[in-house]
Amino acid sequence: MQLLHRGDAGPAVSEIRSILVTLGLLPPNGHAGSTTYDASVEHAVRAFQQQRGLITDGVVGPATYRALTDAKWRLGDRSLAYFVSRPVSGDDVFALQERLLELGYDAGRPDGIFGKQTEHALRSFQREYALNADGICGPATLRSLKQLTPKVRGGRPVYLREQEKVRRAGPRLRGKRIVIDPGHGGNDRGAVVNGVAEADLAWDFARRLEGRMVATGMEALISRGPGSCPPDADRATFANEAGADLFLSLHVDSNRSPEAQGVATFHFGTGNGTTSNVGEALAGFLQREIVARTGMLDCRTHPKSWEVLRWTKMPAVRLEVGYLSNPRDHARLLDPAFRDTVAEAVLVAVKRLYLLGKDDQPTGTFTFDDLLRYELTRAEGA
Ligand SMILES: [Zn+2]
Repeated sequence: MQLLHRGDAGPAVSEIRSILVTLGLLPPNGHAGSTTYDASVEHAVRAFQQQRGLITDGVVGPATYRALTDAKWRLGDRSLAYFVSRPVSGDDVFALQERLLELGYDAGRPDGIFGKQTEHALRSFQREYALNADGICGPATLRSLKQLTPKVRGGRPVYLREQEKVRRAGPRLRGKRIVIDPGHGGNDRGAVVNGVAEADLAWDFARRLEGRMVATGMEALISRGPGSCPPDADRATFANEAGADLFLSLHVDSNRSPEAQGVATFHFGTGNGTTSNVGEALAGFLQREIVARTGMLDCRTHPKSWEVLRWTKMPAVRLEVGYLSNPRDHARLLDPAFRDTVAEAVLVAVKRLYLLGKDDQPTGTFTFDDLLRYELTRAEGA
């Protein structure tokens, strides 16, 4: 599709405006100027992009357009069914999947796409509640879905399976497969401050981490080349096809305020309490290890339903290490020793995830050498 930005006008812009109005990001406006992409539209697009974890550039490209058209659907707006050749996607599908999971039906990880597994879960639900088991979410099915109270508490089946998989995988890192996803790349430089680009830092972090992981016997795959920027959907597909155990996206933040600083980690989750427990646990370990080793400000962990977290089928997190726009963080990021420290902290956080609290050492004290020794003795003893 053609990119839409400030100054454009026409039917495509009208469509975007009306979606932004529906989402409450743009005030309703009926006057003659309502087909132009003006400053208020650009502002609303940026706000939307920020909410969705998209690149915040105020321009509507394919990813933002798809997210906008998905976002306009509320559960009940239309009937939903599985179309093999052209699967339906939207926030209504996402809500349906969440609801099925709450009720104890295995709709897989909610990704907002009505696939085979969604249909299977919906049919099971319909059969158990004496509805016509046609796999179509129409008015009658919707009524039943809305009336019922959740029967699953304290963990959705899909996430309990994630936990079980980590437990069964054992404490050793050897043989575990991780996809390291350096943010941005190619023409997309990410945040750039004083000639330092996020894309390059993310790449550098990825390589440092890859080296350490491979040394422990892990299989570390990088989601992009040094000079390319695949869309989030491709990065997720890469990890899914690789059958990765974990997905780790690496970014560096920036802000208009030079005061903003620190490290934050994001895992898959929604405001309704659907959260990947393993993702959340890994995010917690990452925060604690990095903060303890670097003294950076702890901007904590947050659930997000961003594309790359939603479409990956394994526990996935996105790390934002420092703000390029903050002088102190900026100086740290330029220091290779700091980047080594962060890489080591990340590796130890992954190790802690698989240790499940056993053979644990206090946060920030486990070194790379300790870790290698641990892996080696366990290998001999095995
Ligand atoms: Zn970024």
